[in-house]
Amino acid sequence: MNGRAVRIEGLSVYYGKTAALTDVRLDVCEGEYLGIIGPNGGGKSTLLKAMLGLVKPASGHVEVFGAPPGGGRAAVGYVPQFAAMDKRFPITLLEVILTGRLKKGLAPFFAYSKEDEAAARSLAERVGVGHLAARRLSDLSGGEFQKMLIARALAAKPKLLLLDEPTASVDASSREQIYSLLSELNRDMTIVLVTHDLLAVSAQVKKLACLNGRLVYHGEPELTSPVVNSLYGCPVDLIAHGVPHRVLAEHGEGGCCV
Ligand code: ADP
Repeated sequence: MNGRAVRIEGLSVYYGKTAALTDVRLDVCEGEYLGIIGPNGGGKSTLLKAMLGLVKPASGHVEVFGAPPGGGRAAVGYVPQFAAMDKRFPITLLEVILTGRLKKGLAPFFAYSKEDEAAARSLAERVGVGHLAARRLSDLSGGEFQKMLIARALAAKPKLLLLDEPTASVDASSREQIYSLLSELNRDMTIVLVTHDLLAVSAQVKKLACLNGRLVYHGEPELTSPVVNSLYGCPVDLIAHGVPHRVLAEHGEGGCCV
């Protein structure tokens, strides 16, 4: 694994007149575990959506494993933000994971195969929620819900896993379990993690990108440096969370895979 999983060149995305991303250039190498941090509204979710082909660039170019995003040539798993899901929907944990096995949506008289069900159960076990297969969404804790979303994303056997704040709304022990799972998954898949969580930034990820509409940093994840510098650019968001500050030694864009 040493090719390029994602290549983004000069990407700008607008929602109406609002610029969400401006001239972003970013490479994600295969096998990388990239953390993306930045202030709210900094374009982090939009960047993940660009990798999924869910937003149309105003300018620039996105490639995932050498092809346009969203084409399905290479499997990409996506764990959306917790807030984006309706927990009142009357469906069980296992049924949600099963939806990750769907290739082109539901057809009339569609039924999942025994193989689909076995795969979904095994994924539920793998992420630690096997005992909750029949539990309704409304009765899951935040951590159980996020693990279920990760299992659903894994059901497509992705080579690239994109996660949008998977540790928001989860307790400390679930957070640790999720990070340990992601480290294990990173042995054979590329991971891009949008997070507000300093623990993830410092201890888990291999590379860090900092987004504030523009990409203001891409490089090594370093921890603890002079506080004052972190007032500029995206570390401001970390200060708001009352955690030790992190400062970025060098600022640059892009980066190449070897
Ligand atoms: P982040 O994930 O860093 O919080 P987003 O990518 O969600 O940032 O948002 C980037 C900018 O785009 C923000 O100004 C946000 O208000 C705007 N935005 C995001 N989604 C939409 C949308 N569907 N319609 C209009 N504006 C949007």
